[in-house]
Amino acid sequence: MKVLITGAAGRIGSCATDRLLARGDTVRGMDRRATGRSAAGYDEVVGSFDDAGAVARAMEGVEAVLHLGAFMSWAAKDRPAMFAANVEGTRVLLDAAAQAGVKRFVFASSGEVYPENAPQFLPVTEDHPLLANSPYGLTKLLGEEMVRFHQRAGSFEAVILRFSHTQNAEELLDEDSFFSGPRFFLRPRVAQQRGFGNEAVARLLEAADPGAPAHILARNEAGRAFRMHITDTRDMIQGLELALDRPEAAGGVFNLGATEPVDFPALLEKMSAITGYPVVTVDLPGAGVYYETSNAKMRTELGFRPEWTIGRMLVEAAEARAARMRK
Ligand code: NAD
Repeated sequence: MKVLITGAAGRIGSCATDRLLARGDTVRGMDRRATGRSAAGYDEVVGSFDDAGAVARAMEGVEAVLHLGAFMSWAAKDRPAMFAANVEGTRVLLDAAAQAGVKRFVFASSGEVYPENAPQFLPVTEDHPLLANSPYGLTKLLGEEMVRFHQRAGSFEAVILRFSHTQNAEELLDEDSFFSGPRFFLRPRVAQQRGFGNEAVARLLEAADPGAPAHILARNEAGRAFRMHITDTRDMIQGLELALDRPEAAGGVFNLGATEPVDFPALLEKMSAITGYPVVTVDLPGAGVYYETSNAKMRTELGFRPEWTIGRMLVEAAEARAARMRK
């Protein structure tokens, strides 16, 4: 099968490319960054999703699309570029896929369409109301609507996957990584909040700085610690293959992510044992992050079997951290 993978230079797209090539598919990547990949059965188009010419070239001869590329940002300054990539770009890709006679289109949506950080009930299932409250979540919701439009029009078989928070294991203990740095390490969190313009939160966090690198255990204003899913990229790839291959996935919407949520106090304790950094607890204004999302539909209807628990991810994260320290 010839598959177009958008976001081929990204965390999930590069791993999906590896997997499909390994199983004998032909892959075309599309990303605004060149991947540097050279492999039998692989070619790529470097360009932006809202560039109709580049997208038409990317779509030539393609039977299925994994639309994994997106601009993920929560910074106000990035809003125009994010809507161009995620909304207009998705529209251009969908129209081109319909035109090219693509058979199946798999769309990477997000738990931010519910959103998971303000759930009306737990666990969050696919029936949860769609009440996105962040601009990024809104771009994903608008993307879903356009996918549903094409599904109704019979353009192709569409599958919507609402992705869990996803990480490569080696990112988990990396202070410099986009997600884990600010989530688990105090000083990167201060810098992130300052970058967002949340000066009051940045000061609150700074006041807890023990004068040396530390982990941050964030709690909400009532002292409840964070709980969320952290899914290993490799499990997401298993789910993507099921969405691509299984006839019964056609027309479906599925939460895709780890089965168990992660409780931050226990996780931070384990991280601290590895890094030797103390854990600093800070109660932040607001309701905080506390959710559990059900992947039961994906497991029962498509046979999804996630394998990478947070414990297994941490073992690899510790090895990767030790390797970085040796350099
Ligand atoms: P990533 O940032 O690692 O990769 C996204 C890729 O898209 C990047 O390589 C980037 O260059 C490319 N891209 C961005 N804008 C583009 C544009 N205008 N034209 C062409 N390419 C563009 O992200 P990821 O973690 O691999 O996520 C993959 C998908 O999963 C995204 O759609 C994301 O929104 C979704 N998702 C991710 C998470 C997560 O926690 N990682 C959670 C929910 C949903």
